[in-house]
Amino acid sequence: MNNSKIWLSSPHMGGKEQEFVNDAFQENWIAPLGPNVNGFEQDLKEYLNSDKHVAALSSGTASLHLALLQLGVTNGDEVICQSFTFSASANPISYLGANPVFVDSEEDTWNICPMALEKALADRLAKGKKVKAIIAVHLYGMPCKLDEIQSVASKFNIPLVEDAAEALGSTYKNKACGTFGEFGILSFNGNKIITTSGGGALVCSSEKEKNRTVFFATQARDDAPHYQHSEIGYNYRLSNISAGIGRGQMIALPEHIKLRRKMNTFYQNIFSDINGVEVFKEPNSDFYSNHWLSAILIDKEKTGGIDRETIRLAMQEENIECRPLWKPMHLQPVFKNAPYYGSDVAEKLFEEGLCLPSGSNLTDTDRERISNVIKTVFKA
Ligand SMILES: *Cc1c(COP(=O)(O)O)cnc(C)c1O
Repeated sequence: MNNSKIWLSSPHMGGKEQEFVNDAFQENWIAPLGPNVNGFEQDLKEYLNSDKHVAALSSGTASLHLALLQLGVTNGDEVICQSFTFSASANPISYLGANPVFVDSEEDTWNICPMALEKALADRLAKGKKVKAIIAVHLYGMPCKLDEIQSVASKFNIPLVEDAAEALGSTYKNKACGTFGEFGILSFNGNKIITTSGGGALVCSSEKEKNRTVFFATQARDDAPHYQHSEIGYNYRLSNISAGIGRGQMIALPEHIKLRRKMNTFYQNIFSDINGVEVFKEPNSDFYSNHWLSAILIDKEKTGGIDRETIRLAMQEENIECRPLWKPMHLQPVFKNAPYYGSDVAEKLFEEGLCLPSGSNLTDTDRERISNVIKTVFKA
């Protein structure tokens, strides 16, 4: 029997990537600049279909770092961040010597709760804290409640940064995730919906911001014939080789989204008559998720004791990778002293949730193996 590993989300090449990489070799653009970098930025800009400007960088984490830097986040400031997320959403706050303040999720989108956000902002300001930015995440590709969040952000006049690392291709009211905030970040890490092996992008609101981003990403060189520096710089630009992979991946992206969404439908069908399991889906038609990862919530009271570990271990037994949802940041040892606002929504998601194999490259045979495990566990 075929027992090869089924991954949660693995790289999926479309076919054109190698050509762009070959061009880079032919023209000797083996550098963190070149035609692929410019072309990839243009592809992303066109895909996002907005008046934003895109800077291609070495990772999503680097992109968030440069977003916060440009918003003036510095030593002793505070930045509000969704607790239920990957640590890369919060780490750049610490790089800048600032302190994260974590906020709970709401149940519809699993993303930052606008009401808890408002409470957090009111309380931090009452305490005399300097809150410099709000980081909202579109987790697993699901857009957060942008209208409500933007209205709280503007009420307090604090800039919004969208962590759209998992949400390239997702839209809210037909507008691309990543284009709502002052800055938006994208990631092209190996497990994301498209990959450049490693890479990211910062979506900027003006040409000037984009130029500043590239300036900081290339060691902050002043305009002089010699090397002169008035500010601290970083080495964060994307390689022209990686950008070549990205250009090929952009051609494949619409198909990847279709296939990821098909995986979500596959799980909805499987679990439709299984009591106590809910597949994560859009709350209404304002939200369009790329369904980067499909996830379920398991209520073990209703399943007769089957919980996320029962399913995860049964899958593991068949060489199928599943993973618990993100462990909230306010429960992480490294952030144990950070303030937290909200209740137990994020914590419950972590306890009851499981991510299932979601790649755009999964085959009918893979789906059959996954479905067989689920049927065995639930004796369906
Ligand atoms: C992947 C990811 C990042 C970081 O992106 P990298 O390119 O891996 O640095 C940030 N936030 C979220 C939510 C992510 O999933």
